Amino acid sequence: MADRVTTIEYDTLNRAVRQFLQTGKIQLRCPRCGKPLIYETNGSLEIIRCTDPACVKSVRRGI
Ligand SMILES: [Zn+2]
Repeated sequence: MADRVTTIEYDTLNRAVRQFLQTGKIQLRCPRCGKPLIYETNGSLEIIRCTDPACVKSVRRGI
């Protein structure tokens, strides 16, 4: 499993979600490794994650 996401990393992931929702793309890079971030939905879940599956990931419930 990936390490726990830190507060600073989580903040960057949240900013990436907002960026995606506003512009349709994410310019922010992964706060841990610098790779691109991916936004996806799965049912009512919103997932923002690094392209590296072993890296950071944040899942939250959408509306
Ligand atoms: Zn990463």
